[in-house]
Amino acid sequence: MKLVLASGNAGKLIEMREILAGGGLELVAQSEFGVADVEETGSTFVENALLKARHAARVSGLPALGDDSGICVEALGGAPGLLSARYAGEHGNAQANITKLLDALRDVPDARRTAHFHCTIVLLRHADDPAPLIAEGRWHGAILHSPRGAHGFGYDPIFLPDDGGGLGAGELDAATKNRISHRALALARLRAMLGSLTF
Ligand code: IMP
Repeated sequence: MKLVLASGNAGKLIEMREILAGGGLELVAQSEFGVADVEETGSTFVENALLKARHAARVSGLPALGDDSGICVEALGGAPGLLSARYAGEHGNAQANITKLLDALRDVPDARRTAHFHCTIVLLRHADDPAPLIAEGRWHGAILHSPRGAHGFGYDPIFLPDDGGGLGAGELDAATKNRISHRALALARLRAMLGSLTF
């Protein structure tokens, strides 16, 4: 089955294709249908995921997967959270986002640097689907004091997962990250729901 991925983020498309491989689902980038990014005006991850998926389903005429994700730092009351991609102002400037987050945590000791990535994924069978599938995943860890590793994207270089065997997210190979990340967990839950879905 063909699904449009409602995202312009190439890193996410690669990760999600790897995680979904072998499950009979073919993920196609929304750019192949000329779908532009929609404005993320929701105030929760699930609202933004639905906005993206609905827009992609409407323009492409295909079922769509929408996801919204971010990193939530406890010492900052959950920030950057929903604003993760544009924390430093310009959308998707990972380097600037990392610098701003490290600055915000400059005087915060290790014990209080706990954080988690959150991912919400929704599947809409069509743009007016009244009953979307919704799956969520969290990946727990802490914020490092400086970047480590060259893998992944976004905040990976400064995230130390609890279950990464002491390696930062940016030091994990793709296969390992794709087994344990927030996105992997959410997609596994979505896959488990797909069995009962009729189109
Ligand atoms: P979205 O594209 O609106 O979901 O924004 C998600 C933002 O959260 C990304 O631009 C990254 O900054 C951050 N993010 C989400 N997932 C990850 C991840 O797996 N690694 C690193 N950063 C992530």
